[in-house]
Amino acid sequence: MIQLYIPLNFLGVIYREIKQSLTDLDRMFTLLESDREVADAPSALPLRIEDHSRGPEVRFENVSFHYESNRQILHEVSFVIPAGTITAVVGRSGAGKSTLARLLFRFYDVQKGQILIDGQDIREVQQASLRQSIGIVPQDTVLFNDTIGYNIAYGRPGATEQEIAAAARAAQMSQFIDHLPEGYATQVGERGLKLSGGEKQRVAIARTLLKQPSMLVFDEATSALDSKTERALQEELTGLARNRTTLIIAHRLSTIVHADQILVMDHGRVVERGTHQELINLDGVYAQMWQMQKRQGDDV
Ligand code: ADP
Ligand code: MG
Repeated sequence: MIQLYIPLNFLGVIYREIKQSLTDLDRMFTLLESDREVADAPSALPLRIEDHSRGPEVRFENVSFHYESNRQILHEVSFVIPAGTITAVVGRSGAGKSTLARLLFRFYDVQKGQILIDGQDIREVQQASLRQSIGIVPQDTVLFNDTIGYNIAYGRPGATEQEIAAAARAAQMSQFIDHLPEGYATQVGERGLKLSGGEKQRVAIARTLLKQPSMLVFDEATSALDSKTERALQEELTGLARNRTTLIIAHRLSTIVHADQILVMDHGRVVERGTHQELINLDGVYAQMWQMQKRQGDDV
């Protein structure tokens, strides 16, 4: 009974959390399939993070990956995100960016190479501890037909009211909530109050703050917002990334100018890497993307 309950419940949580951002709904079966394949090694230990005030080092080493054997998606991808720093990934749609996030979360195992967190191969750590350590702020946040308090607390079951309120405050949501007729008890979602994209985004940020993960993944987390709202949120995201190891999959280049490292992906390969200025000086793919976004007046 217990054995049955835990995996089903866990899959439910995972499914809800990522269905909008990391995988398509119609790939649910693939996901369930893969989750069954990705099992804890008998010798698996909890993930050890050396310094919680910085987050761990994340290392992709010669990672090759395919979903279907006839179509290689990642080709020998290598990069290091030093502890406590921000790495951004850019590249056109289909380049393999979200796949990096899925592999870090270990929805799938790599076919070649390895992913190391503070030196531990993620295939050798307990999945629950791995996933507890990673907070994802997705493109579209899924809200439950429940209260706004519940939706925030979902980041950490058992959180106290004070903790929830503190997270909401940090995510710049508390003013909004205080003006709701029933405050934190206000129903949201399809059957309740409809939240705007930016408000939902803030719920996701509050959730993640409450979760206190040592690694953060933003998967085009603000691409749905207009650039003004995005700029307003940027500060909160930067605050969230402090003391953590962060991977940002970015759509608008303006949001990642200050990243410690930018990786440009193309057809499953890292084709350029460096800081914004280094990549501008390189005058390659990134510089071209930058010029294009500028021309399109996308407020880069
Ligand atoms: P990006 O995030 O850069 O747009 P993805 O990492 O989502 O790209 O996808 C990379 C490639 O892998 C795409 O061609 C996509 O169609 C393919 N892909 C993604 N998920 C699956 C899956 N579950 N099964 C098969 N192919 C997939
Ligand atoms: Mg993607």
